[in-house]
Amino acid sequence: MESLKKSFDVIVVGAGTGGSTAARFATKGGLDVCLIDRKPKRLIGDKICGDAIGTEVFDFLQIDPPKGEELSCHIKGAKLYTPNLQKCITLTDPKQAGYIVNRLEFGQRLLNEALDSGVSQFLDNTMVLDLLYDNNQVSGVQVKLDNGIKTNLNSKIVIDASGFYSPLRKKVKSALIEKEIPKEDAILCYREIVKFSPQDLKVQDPEYISIILDKEKAPGGYIWYFPKDSSSVNIGLGAFMHYKGQVKELYKKFVFNNYIKTSKVEIISSGGGAVPIRRPLWSCADNGIMLVGDAACQVNPLHGGGIDPSMRAGYLAANCAKSAINAGDESIKNLWAYNYEVMTSFGAEFASLDLLRMVLQVLNNDELNFGLERDLLTGEEILEISSSGDLNLSLLDMTVKTFKGISNPNLLLDLNYLRIRMKEISKLYKKFPIDISKFEQWKSSVVQVYDKVRKMLINPKKVK
Ligand SMILES: Cc1cc2nc3c(=O)[nH]c(=O)nc-3n(C[C@H](O)[C@H](O)[C@H](O)COP(=O)(O)OP(=O)(O)OC[C@H]3O[C@@H](n4cnc5c(N)ncnc54)[C@H](O)[C@@H]3O)c2cc1C
Repeated sequence: MESLKKSFDVIVVGAGTGGSTAARFATKGGLDVCLIDRKPKRLIGDKICGDAIGTEVFDFLQIDPPKGEELSCHIKGAKLYTPNLQKCITLTDPKQAGYIVNRLEFGQRLLNEALDSGVSQFLDNTMVLDLLYDNNQVSGVQVKLDNGIKTNLNSKIVIDASGFYSPLRKKVKSALIEKEIPKEDAILCYREIVKFSPQDLKVQDPEYISIILDKEKAPGGYIWYFPKDSSSVNIGLGAFMHYKGQVKELYKKFVFNNYIKTSKVEIISSGGGAVPIRRPLWSCADNGIMLVGDAACQVNPLHGGGIDPSMRAGYLAANCAKSAINAGDESIKNLWAYNYEVMTSFGAEFASLDLLRMVLQVLNNDELNFGLERDLLTGEEILEISSSGDLNLSLLDMTVKTFKGISNPNLLLDLNYLRIRMKEISKLYKKFPIDISKFEQWKSSVVQVYDKVRKMLINPKKVK
């Protein structure tokens, strides 16, 4: 490269949905930005994904929703099925409505809009290898350029948006940021985009994404069936990480053979990937660095949707970078505000759903059928607790639940207990300390709630 610029306000690592959004808003905020991705430009955005995204994030960011070649189809809501398929919970609130996108075209649009907003250097085919430090503060990255040369690039702030396997998270010198993500906090997925002739097969429920909970067929995860257009679907499954090497087999046996059946189809795309399914990292920032999207475990733990939060986080990180740089101090003192914004918004929702996810993962199919069929925990309740942190069931509601759940009192007790803990944790997250000196105290309160739920999972019948 002839004139490689080597110093910036912000370096954004990864030009996926999180990184492109961060670069776009940092540039719009007047910052000098370098955006880097290891992929060639034409492939950025091409990711194995369910391709579903809600409408809300486009309003939040005030950017165009998917249209034209990016848009595959519109979605009215989600349908959640019990393992025996006897009960279907239909969710049609605004959070569930959205789009199925053509992932490459969508990613290319976000990238091009970031570049058009004035990113001062874009390096594709460039692998970020390591973080640079000046004293105790991140001061840039080491990269391997397109031509194989290794070099250092400096910046006041690095935004790491390099995805779940972030190489930088592992290199960060920080007591605040977790380097390793426990295996139980992620799932492995495999999916195909299957095209068929409409004479042979019809798309089921073309206006809804369908999710089937099944402990035996998709252990730890779920089966999904998402319409793509009138003659193709995005269909797959997720399972615990220790099913590595077997997820494709599970897919063929329990998903393809059940829902597609015929070999008279064209497989447009196939592949797998890992998704974090937990609350965000304890801290998504430290001196001179912020992490966004999958790199920071900012994915909805219930359904694995991470496009929306990665874009929100990119926006929040960009705004925080601007304030810190304007204040002339990019230490954690000024980047803590990014944590505050994340934890008090979608972080609160994800922590609450994380507890639900932990419980759903240990219930067997009979318990899932029983609990969901008898409305011991309903879709509306889940949405209300996780989004508002509150749910006040009337005495009548509780009495009805008690009668319906009477033949499985332990499950009834456990789900009631879970509901209380979900509320508790959501409230704690909404009170995330703006003052970093109060963080350890806050963290220990959160750990206590997790411990209570883990205790219930180990010994469900003894919880009072
Ligand atoms: C099978 C599957 C299905 C999913 N379905 C959905 C869904 O339906 N809806 C939804 O909302 N979410 C879904 N997700 C999750 C969603 O895809 C992610 O949460 C989202 O893409 C996160 O965006 P990101 O920007 O954080 O990371 P990514 O999109 O992973 O982008 C990371 C970028 O960083 C680059 N990079 C990585 N390492 C380096 C490096 N060392 N140097 C330079 N560049 C680097 C990569 O090339 C990539 O472009 C699914 C995930 C999987 C695996």
